[in-house]
Amino acid sequence: MSRLLENLNPEQLAAVTLPAQSGLILAGAGSGKTRVLTTRIAWLLQTGQVSQAGILAVTFTNKAAKEMLTRLGAMLPINTRGMWIGTFHGLCNRFLRAHYREAALPQTFQILDTADQLAAIKRLLKVLNVDDEKFPPRELQHFINGNKEAGFRPHAVEAWDDYTRRRVELYAEYDAQCQREGVCDFPELLLRAYELLERNEPIRRHYQARFRHLLVDEFQDTNRLQYLWLKLIAGHATPTPAAVFAVGDDDQSIYGFRGAEVGNMRDFEREFQVPAVIRLEQNYRSHGNILDAANAIIANNSKRLGKNLWTDQGSGEPIRVYEAVADLDEARWIVEEIQQLVREGAARSDIALLYRSNAQSRVLEHQLFSLGIPYRVYGGLRFFERQEIKHALAYLRLMANPDDDTAFVRVVNFPTRGIGARSLEQLQDAARTYNTSLYAAVSQLAGKPAQAIGAFIRLIEEMRLTTRELRLPEMVDHILDASGLRAHYKAEREGEERLANLDELINAATNFISEDSTPAEGEEVVAGDPLSRFLAHASLEAGEHQADAGQEAVQLMSVHAAKGLEFDVVFITGLEDGLFPHENSITELDGLEEERRLMYVAVTRARKRLYMSLAQSRMLHGQTRFAIKSRFFEEIPAELLKWLTPRVQQGFGAVHTPTRNEAYAGSRANAPRQANRDLGGFRIGQSVRHAKFGSGVIVSAEGSGADARVQVNFGAGVGMKLLALGVAKLEAE
Ligand code: ATP
Ligand code: MG
Repeated sequence: MSRLLENLNPEQLAAVTLPAQSGLILAGAGSGKTRVLTTRIAWLLQTGQVSQAGILAVTFTNKAAKEMLTRLGAMLPINTRGMWIGTFHGLCNRFLRAHYREAALPQTFQILDTADQLAAIKRLLKVLNVDDEKFPPRELQHFINGNKEAGFRPHAVEAWDDYTRRRVELYAEYDAQCQREGVCDFPELLLRAYELLERNEPIRRHYQARFRHLLVDEFQDTNRLQYLWLKLIAGHATPTPAAVFAVGDDDQSIYGFRGAEVGNMRDFEREFQVPAVIRLEQNYRSHGNILDAANAIIANNSKRLGKNLWTDQGSGEPIRVYEAVADLDEARWIVEEIQQLVREGAARSDIALLYRSNAQSRVLEHQLFSLGIPYRVYGGLRFFERQEIKHALAYLRLMANPDDDTAFVRVVNFPTRGIGARSLEQLQDAARTYNTSLYAAVSQLAGKPAQAIGAFIRLIEEMRLTTRELRLPEMVDHILDASGLRAHYKAEREGEERLANLDELINAATNFISEDSTPAEGEEVVAGDPLSRFLAHASLEAGEHQADAGQEAVQLMSVHAAKGLEFDVVFITGLEDGLFPHENSITELDGLEEERRLMYVAVTRARKRLYMSLAQSRMLHGQTRFAIKSRFFEEIPAELLKWLTPRVQQGFGAVHTPTRNEAYAGSRANAPRQANRDLGGFRIGQSVRHAKFGSGVIVSAEGSGADARVQVNFGAGVGMKLLALGVAKLEAE
């Protein structure tokens, strides 16, 4: 037998060597779907059934495509460059570049990302004098993309009422504007590629004859248009259709919010006459305890196609759970743990930190950065490099120094204030002539430019005046409103995440101040005002510490971005109810089930060791939130979990972030006794009553006197609360 096929189990072998016909592999995480798909490509090539040019393979991310190419290169002595292996968007882009004329696009057509697209829509509404309160741009964007992803051009959209008719007209106007400007948004790439294939018979025939084997990974997350595109390019309706080989897992469908349809799997089975669905049940990735936890969690979902997963790897270690008092402690503990793992010989790149929403990465990044641990953030920019953060920082920089031209240019017309390129040009000329900063050159302008830019200058002056006496966090808060940044992102379709990040910037400022004002022993207090120091800190964290390419680095990413990947060690962070599962999911149809699939994806990324962590209090969206642990903990059999912190419910402990050794000992007895504090007559262990939360027990305390805060366990339903004694009006019970 060919060496390629060694080490495959019988089902995998059957899948890899399936005759040239359509096939569907439906199997759980870590069962070797991606490996089977890659091996099949190699096997098809090695046995001469198809040439490299005859293969088209679709992956979900660019990272996955690269990995597939690397693996192929390792399996066969071939040059994989030029092979059609990529994401749907990547492949359609390539196709349109090759046939730009037939697709009626300029050769150098540009791609609009989601933010660019929204800006284009706003511009259009302005030109057409459309009331953007009646037709909110982000809703229009949603409408347009939804229709494109379903394959509908404006003329094909059914409109029963005037409002929808008007939206359809705007959709048509938007398309015309894109056409004039020679740009394509994301769904347009797919739709246009699809239409070109459909309309142009010679091209269609060419590709149908060329691609004899189509292979699709993560098939459960394809949307309708992607499915239709596959059908067309496979020559589904021709006498000699290509063989389509799809692999997927309905339990890992996590893009429902983007219009992905698990139903495509059923349609595929029927329409492509798949003889038999192949199931793979052995998991090769994870140790038994990890797999048991994943199976137990996903068993709570009702809509499942159903499958089994087992492993012969042995149970391995228990899942380690750490419940921190606050998000900073959580991050501190994680990083301590990472350092220990690395000391024990783990490679940093085998360690992944996962979170539900990108805003959570900042605290983790900060901690890694402070200790000089190289890390890399995937599927999203690092915190201080994000567009919205850079905009906010630009305003802050103008507070510190109005002559900062880079900052000036960045935000003079952001959010839009009707300052045109011509006005800016005049300003730049004036600045050059008088050899001043842009800010100073405004006084040299006259007429309309002077008016438009003058208003911006007044805004900045006003902000500087108002913020002069404010503390740094308040200052940040103020400029977010006064600049119009908050309002701007509120109006954006994808703006929620950006708003969360902006609020996160306030938290960053708060933390910065508290750390900044307490220099470590022997450390000098750095010169300059807090704002300048904060800005310096921001640019340092932004620029310097992203690990270099190829450098061994800890991997940070959202759970969404982790799909398909695997790591020896995985930390799932922020496991609090409301965060993961996300609070929005509770009100959405199928919301909780989709969150559970996400959790299943997260757990099944781990090979050998899995950590879960949560924080009882967390700064998010600009405020401290007190949370109880994620409901997913209830779904995991207790014997699989090892709580590293004494669970407060089990007794009365002091607020104390255990060091690693204490944490391992896992016993409260190792925690140092809490120093006597002035708790205004209360003591730890005392029963108390709160007007809103009812009866509870004080389990820990921090601070003393007027600043004392106590943590009270109010039992099932309410959970743990951290309360300021001066405010909470507790009564002894
Ligand atoms: P996911 O659903 O998370 O995408 P998957 O089903 O695609 O998972 P793979 O990533 O292909 O799973 O495989 C998981 C791990 O198991 C990989 O490290 C792979 O190399 C390994 N593996 C798969 N099949 C075998 C096998 N027969 N023998 C040894 N290792 C295997
Ligand atoms: Mg996979």
